[in-house]
Amino acid sequence: MNKTGKNYKVISVGDIQAKGRVTLHSDLSLTGSEISINELPAGASVPFVHSHKQNEEVYIVIKGKGRFYVDGDEFDIEEGSVIRVDPDGQRCIAADSKVPIRYICIQTQRNSLAQFTEKDGVIHQNIKPSWLKS
Ligand code: ZN
Repeated sequence: MNKTGKNYKVISVGDIQAKGRVTLHSDLSLTGSEISINELPAGASVPFVHSHKQNEEVYIVIKGKGRFYVDGDEFDIEEGSVIRVDPDGQRCIAADSKVPIRYICIQTQRNSLAQFTEKDGVIHQNIKPSWLKS
């Protein structure tokens, strides 16, 4: 389902396995981050090591398992693994030889977050969705 409202946008990214990689910055008009949803088939690797000029990245493994490389360190990752990499970190990710890996990568500018959760959120006590009305 795709839907756009005054203050939101919903898209369907479709078949991640078939697409391999979906980036959300343009489709969702993101202003503070780039988010990608990725799947590497069993035995596949991102074919290069990269770093960033100013963005840190968080990799969230949501399915499967694989290996991660940062600055010469290599380690196993699996569903539930979350890796934060500094912009300078030279990184690469690969799927396990027998199991694909699906992960979300969130890219944000290092030191850009001014406030979050309780300091940024505003609770509207008198407004409720249908499922909270009684
Ligand atoms: Zn990157």
